[in-house]
Amino acid sequence: MTDTTTGGAFGGLTIDFGGTAADTEAAPVEAPEAVATGDPVTARIVIVGAGPAGLTSAIYAGRAGLDPIVLGGHEPGGQLMLTSEVENYPGFPEGILGPELMARFRAQAERFGGRMIDEAVDRIDLSTRPFRLWAGGLEYRADAVIVATGASAIWLGLESEERLRGRGVSACATCDGFFFRDRDVAVVGGGDTALEEALYLTRFARNVRMIVRRDAFRGSRILQERALSDPRISVEWEAQVAEVLGETKVEALRLRDSRTAEERTVAVDGVFVAIGHRPNTDVFRGWLDMDEKGYLVPDTTTASRIPGVFIAGDVDDHRYRQAITAAGEGCRAAIDAERWLEEQGVLTADEVAEVASSMPW
Ligand code: NDP
Repeated sequence: MTDTTTGGAFGGLTIDFGGTAADTEAAPVEAPEAVATGDPVTARIVIVGAGPAGLTSAIYAGRAGLDPIVLGGHEPGGQLMLTSEVENYPGFPEGILGPELMARFRAQAERFGGRMIDEAVDRIDLSTRPFRLWAGGLEYRADAVIVATGASAIWLGLESEERLRGRGVSACATCDGFFFRDRDVAVVGGGDTALEEALYLTRFARNVRMIVRRDAFRGSRILQERALSDPRISVEWEAQVAEVLGETKVEALRLRDSRTAEERTVAVDGVFVAIGHRPNTDVFRGWLDMDEKGYLVPDTTTASRIPGVFIAGDVDDHRYRQAITAAGEGCRAAIDAERWLEEQGVLTADEVAEVASSMPW
């Protein structure tokens, strides 16, 4: 991560992520006119979310001739936009920067007619057909919806943490652990995620120091036992991160004792924040099934309990949380949605035949 990124947060990379409906030619959707008239924008499929899951759905839905609209939120691209080097996405043996990977997903989705609208959905009505969604002051109507809004890592909320994100501060050991070979790292948190991250990091790091704010872990006993018996892992109990120290990369942590407020500094090369994720599901509350943490719960495969509404990516996955797994789910959701639309007669037999004949196989 810090080692492989040069010049600027993402190596000086300039990515145009600001495309709107009005920017794109070959647009089958009348979004600009809708802006003028206030009429609803209609689509056969609306995809909510523009991370790996949403954009993969858009690629598949686009190739199926469904002219998808992607409502990608104000910061499209998902969590990969906060990552520097991605080395575990298949097809990029040299690695690729997270934002560049997402720019490629997006370009590929646009190539097949996907319309990117960087607005956040603030209201929905899934009781009507077509479904209704509101974003950026416009109403969208869709025969099918794919929810791919992802989950966001919860951060400590420190200015220094934000400044050094991608320069030693990470929320994903699987993504960035490799860059800390023979280095000293810290993992903040005491839940299952933190324990798993710490155990994973022992493959690379010389020492893994867990920073736990109470005198006990929250995670499962088996992971606790594994971590506590690993000679590379030590625990700073009842300690909180007061500041991440370092100018251009992480050099140390200033820790504050939870009971006495006494402070001390520990030298580390990287810090992995693992205090939980928050699924981005507020707008779907009351419509779709959720677990107690707010993750969506699919009914079968990618289908939700509402026929025509499908679910993909980290919004229902707190286990794997990888770009490749999210992309895989996006593909499944688009295929499920396409078949469902076909069953409903929304995609006509002629259209199905036309799409099939345009495929290379
Ligand atoms: P959890 O909410 O379970 O744990 C969060 C941890 O972070 C707790 O130790 C919490 O401390 C700590 N924490 C929270 N906020 C702060 C803060 N501001 N500063 C310092 N520490 C903080 O989240 P996880 O992501 O670990 O797990 C989420 C769910 O996913 C759980 O149900 C978990 O069991 C599951 N999971 C299961 C896995 C598995 O089975 N292999 C792997 C990963 C996750 P405190 O305890 O004091 O609140």
